[in-house]
Amino acid sequence: MLARMTSSDPRPGNTYPHLFTPLDLGFCTLPNRVLMGSMHTGLEDRARDFGKLAEYFAVRARGGVGLMVTGGFSPNVAGWLKPFSSRLSSHWQAAKHRRITEAVHAAGGRICLQILHAGRYGYHPFSVAPSAIKSPITPFTPRALSGRGVERTIRDFVRCATRARDAGYDGVEIMGSEGYLINQFLAERSNRRNDRWGGSAESRMRLPVQIVQRTREAVGRDFIIIYRLSMLDLVDRAQAWDEIVALAKHVEAAGATLINTGIGWHEARIPTIVTSVPRAAFAWVTRRMKQHVRIPLITTNRINMPEVAESVLARGDADMVSMARPFLADPDWVAKARGGRAALINPCIACNQACLDHVFENKRASCLMNPRACYETELVDTPLVAKKHFAVIGAGPAGLACATTLAQRGHRVTLYEKSSEIGGQFNLARRIPGKEEFNEPLRYWGNLLAETGVDVRLGTHAAAAMLRAQNYDATIVATGVTPRDPRIPGQGHPMVIGYRDAVMGIRPIGRRVAIIGAGGIGFDVAEFLTQPAPSPTTDIARWTREWGVDTSLAQRGGLDKPQVEESPREVWLLQRTAGRPGKRLNKTTGWVHRAALKAKGVHMLGGVTYREIDDAGLHVTIDGEARTLAVDNVIICAGQESNRALADELIAAGVTVHVIGGADVAAELDAKRAIRQATQLATGL
Ligand code: NAP
Ligand code: SF4
Repeated sequence: MLARMTSSDPRPGNTYPHLFTPLDLGFCTLPNRVLMGSMHTGLEDRARDFGKLAEYFAVRARGGVGLMVTGGFSPNVAGWLKPFSSRLSSHWQAAKHRRITEAVHAAGGRICLQILHAGRYGYHPFSVAPSAIKSPITPFTPRALSGRGVERTIRDFVRCATRARDAGYDGVEIMGSEGYLINQFLAERSNRRNDRWGGSAESRMRLPVQIVQRTREAVGRDFIIIYRLSMLDLVDRAQAWDEIVALAKHVEAAGATLINTGIGWHEARIPTIVTSVPRAAFAWVTRRMKQHVRIPLITTNRINMPEVAESVLARGDADMVSMARPFLADPDWVAKARGGRAALINPCIACNQACLDHVFENKRASCLMNPRACYETELVDTPLVAKKHFAVIGAGPAGLACATTLAQRGHRVTLYEKSSEIGGQFNLARRIPGKEEFNEPLRYWGNLLAETGVDVRLGTHAAAAMLRAQNYDATIVATGVTPRDPRIPGQGHPMVIGYRDAVMGIRPIGRRVAIIGAGGIGFDVAEFLTQPAPSPTTDIARWTREWGVDTSLAQRGGLDKPQVEESPREVWLLQRTAGRPGKRLNKTTGWVHRAALKAKGVHMLGGVTYREIDDAGLHVTIDGEARTLAVDNVIICAGQESNRALADELIAAGVTVHVIGGADVAAELDAKRAIRQATQLATGL
């Protein structure tokens, strides 16, 4: 059934009193406690994209966010993230930024430029660092900065801030966390200097303090300086908590307006923002800092919905919350929260698929849930010439995105779904421990269907003859996929279960299980089988223990020994392709899945030939050696094939048909492609 689900109290008015309390910074007042955190979009690197970037920010300013921060701009060439990436050092470059700041101010917003020197994370041969020590995540060994080089770098930071002010920005954020240059100076792991910029903790923190102090002197009092402070490095030979507190006090005294929280270096092996990290999992560390400084503190990481933000503020963990990806997903996040329409917020599910993964692939960022993000001037609705009536078949992500976009444009839409609930493959995903966020898109789409007046027919098989008889202007087929048949001898044995039946709990599963297929779904099923219920991913204390985060802050870097909860099952995750399973998982999340399953003792094997299934178990050959895995169950996760039968029948009957999502391309069954394709189609029909 189609429930009208709410994520929060939908009454208009002051549902989130802490979130909507203005924040007085002395020389300006922010209208609310929401910072749109820095997020590299790929539009920063070339001034010719600044028109698109300006609209991206202006849309979000119109959506009511209090303060925004751009993606990172380097203060000089050595600080580039990659060759010719975003940099602000000249008047000429500053003039180009006017387009962004004027668009934001015209929309009633405020914006800071983030100054980010990549240091040894620079993906180019000119990178510099405190010491010539290569990072584990880049191939280039940096050059150690000389003492004069450090002085020059400070001047470059100050010049960048001054240019930002010339360009009309309301302030800057000095990026001191996530393992970039400033953070590299702060930690022994990357700073082996014995001059005035290294050695003692006091010397290691001289660089950021000097940058803040001299920037304040240069920009005057009425300019926001946010310092992004690494409160938890999550790597070894890093800062001790008392050093971090001392730095915060120095940064405050040096003239920072706000301190933002940074969590984890990029090379850390503890996840900090992926979907399996509990919501607001790191707000506790900002709260520890609060007693030590007087300026407002911003907390961050995995805050995505207003009730989470409100409770963080109400508990007094921080004075502001920073969210970056949630504003890709919904530019009107603030306006909806303020206007009693939080149930219609398009959620960030922390999948990274269209944002961070794109950035790492040198592609423009966008959002799986909102493909218009960063395409505000391109993926636009064509004007409606005549209202039409469309049938959409299938209420998975593709069908839902298509139906709601068509209806928002003013078309009449009838949505058919043969099962009793909307969501398609997301209904499986949301049952996987660590993927609880996938409930939110269903809440969103359920409410949006009602809001836009889509006629939803659940539990209805849409037969070709019926559709033909209804004479729709066009039929959009989003019938999804069917599981691939791996054709293994003996696969009809009762011990064999399809992944859908396994995840939906339709069939009981024994203690020893083999999974055939190690794609995204094979990995999901392995997590499902190895996590004790309830999953620790909704419990911050259990999650931090499991990953080894030291919440007592007694250890340098905040690292502790992981205390992994034992898996209730022994699991084999298998693929035919040689090599370690999981190589094709997404860049920013795949390592988390692999590490989690490794910790649970899952046997991940490649180069497997499936010979037969019988009462003895699964007979395989691995590296030429015949083996029998004496398992209780075999779960098939061998990929998908398009479910095109209805489309083919309608096309043969001469009906106007558009095929989208997995029904169109199953090889890459993937919600990001499905939702983008559906939205693109619906904006043009
Ligand atoms: P998939 O990624 O294509 O993986 C299919 C798996 O089945 C592969 O390991 C493949 O490996 C194996 N396989 C293929 N044909 C087979 C056959 N005839 N017999 C036995 N094994 C066979 O498909 P999926 O796991 O169903 O995932 C589909 C999509 O869902 C993903 O591409 C992803 O976009 C999305 N998804 C992603 C995630 C995630 O990233 N966490 C989670 C869920 C879903 P071999 O050919 O080497 O045996
Ligand atoms: Fe959030 Fe995923 Fe969209 Fe990125 S792509 S903003 S993680 S929903």
